[in-house]
Amino acid sequence: MFDTLSSRLETVFKSLRGRGRLSEADIDATAREIRVALLEADVALPVVRAFVAAIKERARGVEVSQALNPAQQVIKIVNEELIGILGGQTANIRLAKTPPTVILLAGLQGTGKTTLAGKLGMWLKKQGHTPMLVAADLQRPNAVNQLQVVGARAGVEVFAPEPGNGIGDPVAVARDAIAHARRNVFDVVVVDTAGRLGVDQELMEQAADIRDAVKPDEILFVVDAMVGQDAVSTAMAFLDGVGFSGVVLTKLDGDARGGAALSVAHVTGRPIMFASTGEALGDFDVFHPERMASRILG
Ligand code: GDP
Repeated sequence: MFDTLSSRLETVFKSLRGRGRLSEADIDATAREIRVALLEADVALPVVRAFVAAIKERARGVEVSQALNPAQQVIKIVNEELIGILGGQTANIRLAKTPPTVILLAGLQGTGKTTLAGKLGMWLKKQGHTPMLVAADLQRPNAVNQLQVVGARAGVEVFAPEPGNGIGDPVAVARDAIAHARRNVFDVVVVDTAGRLGVDQELMEQAADIRDAVKPDEILFVVDAMVGQDAVSTAMAFLDGVGFSGVVLTKLDGDARGGAALSVAHVTGRPIMFASTGEALGDFDVFHPERMASRILG
């Protein structure tokens, strides 16, 4: 995913190798190259600006060190700033004091929400929880069935509306699901919601109604890393319309440049909590900003 960015940054660092103290002109030139590298990787402009300003500022203040030469010091600064952009620390799911913990998934159609519900369910089981998935996406005819298939593969219970009851009310389904979870001692409930191909008012209102009905402990915004710059505007629209507490990046296994998805944490101020890296249920993990930064810096 981040090959372009990695190789561009590597070139920037190579040009600094073997240098003595960095002059003001060296720092400016390096900052410019880093700016181009980030823009080419599709990182959103406000993030690029903040990043480059921080690098410049810190590079100027660098003391000549015995242990690190200027190139190494710049790499260290870029690494630390990159970790900051990616949210700093690894974020954990906030568990409800009184179970069940409710996690609401929101995002556009095709981002991998339903697949994520299964992945999250399987992951929660591994953590010792007793999760339950809820099919509150009643917009697409096949969505309920798809969640049931994913749940069966993950070995996780799925709460779904009775078939043949017409389109149904996703808010009622979600509410019933929480009551069912409470009665049957499921301690984490993952609610899959409907997505559209683009941001739309009705979808936002439906997700907000479900939110108000189930009072989630976490709302995870699911973003497809392949979508490019739209990731940022879609994230802002969801933040405004539904609100969310964390981000899940999906399709990190793709070969897109990925910078836009990386920008989402910084732009929305919400941490990236999980990353999805393939179609299989096991292709999923907690997101570690430090590991991601090291991967990008090679
Ligand atoms: P939803 O519409 O948001 O519920 O999205 P789905 O869960 O139906 O996923 C849409 C497509 O993306 C499916 O074909 C999934 O198999 C695929 N998908 C989901 N997550 C990933 C991922 O991390 N990597 C890849 N390559 N494909 C994924």
